[in-house]
Amino acid sequence: MNDKLAGLTQTQLDAHWMPYTGNRQFKRDPRIITAADGCYYTSADGRPIFDGLSGLWTCGAGHNRKDIAKAISQQLAKLDYAPAFQFGHPSSFALAERITQLMPEGLNRVFFTNSGSDAVETSLKIARAYWRKKGLASKTKLIGRSKGYHGVNFGGVSVGGIGANRAIFGPALSTSHLPHTLLSENRFSRGQPECGAHLAEALLDIIDLHDASNIAAVIIEPMAGSAGVLPPPEGYLQRLRDICEQHQILLIFDEVITAFGRLGSATGAEIFGVVPDILNTAKQLTNGVIPMGAVVVQQEIYESFLQQGGPDYQLELPHGYTYSAHPVACAAALATLDILERDNLFKRSAELAYILEDYIHQLRNLPLIYDIRNCGLAAALTIESAPGEPLLRPFLIALKMWDKGFYIRYSGNTLQLGVPFISRSEEIDGLINALAESILEVA
Ligand code: PLP
Repeated sequence: MNDKLAGLTQTQLDAHWMPYTGNRQFKRDPRIITAADGCYYTSADGRPIFDGLSGLWTCGAGHNRKDIAKAISQQLAKLDYAPAFQFGHPSSFALAERITQLMPEGLNRVFFTNSGSDAVETSLKIARAYWRKKGLASKTKLIGRSKGYHGVNFGGVSVGGIGANRAIFGPALSTSHLPHTLLSENRFSRGQPECGAHLAEALLDIIDLHDASNIAAVIIEPMAGSAGVLPPPEGYLQRLRDICEQHQILLIFDEVITAFGRLGSATGAEIFGVVPDILNTAKQLTNGVIPMGAVVVQQEIYESFLQQGGPDYQLELPHGYTYSAHPVACAAALATLDILERDNLFKRSAELAYILEDYIHQLRNLPLIYDIRNCGLAAALTIESAPGEPLLRPFLIALKMWDKGFYIRYSGNTLQLGVPFISRSEEIDGLINALAESILEVA
């Protein structure tokens, strides 16, 4: 028996259509994870695998946190589900307040969703409905950014800017896109690149073309994650903020990756000193343990819905999910935020960020390396493409890493790292050494 399969039969493997996966290759050579603890997974063949991406940017506090498991099991035993509409349960209100305490001032009303993608859809719908409530119903256009990732639903795909995620799905919503901020003159920048604030001016061109009276919102990741860690150029976010302000356009930060510690703080908004009107979160909110997202809005947005809500028994926002504010997810989130605070993990993430930056930039002179970027406890390499096969080398390098006992993400022509906040510097060192070896083996 192939011990890589954890006892699974080929029929079982075939039955699961895996997401964002090369199913044919995977099912020929599966990478099955059977357990996790701290910074490590266990593979089906019994090897420890260092978790170089904290799950999918989800598990910064490390795996198998007993306090989260305990909170979940207590919640399950007490209240396993409560209707999300028209009735409430205590933990959602406690969690909402807790989240607002971590947000920049003014972002103090929280709408719960099931995932990052749902948070994105919710934020886009709130933005459109908000302008209608303000009597500006023509403001419907949504603006994203090239190389942006905003999940997989139609709204998110429409504002998203990764071509491969859009190509086979037919027409999306009508949107416009800002240019991405990946400039060749910024290659090998450490942290935020100096050049590129001017790229925010492209919003003025879009406004010229479509008129602000037709535009609802701009949505961007303050640090683009899925395209391969693109930190915002110095001054860029502030310039976008100013233009949005001047033209009455809502600014949405999609902080599904960046909220709750990845950048060494509760939010990217805080780190970059720019406050959006709406801020989306998910992933690290529950340490990845239970699906949950949250959209945090400025009080004025919430109040506008209430003021225009009609009789007080009427819905102000006809939107929500069966599992919005699920009691078990709320328990997981409250326990996660307790751990992040008690163990000082934002600070720990910020400290480790310097180490990751130092180590990752040591790879600069290896073959195949086109660019290296880092921001907080996130980093990425752009790999020079093999002729005609831009996706091949990152995949091959990531496979070598898996064989050496390291999980990292390969996506497009990039490799991405986001180690847990509880990593030790020796572990980051080990990860980068293995990466160097793997790159040399593939070159
Ligand atoms: N938005 C951003 C910025 C993300 O990085 C992601 C996922 O990586 C999403 C949205 C989608 O989140 P989910 O996969 O939970 O739907």
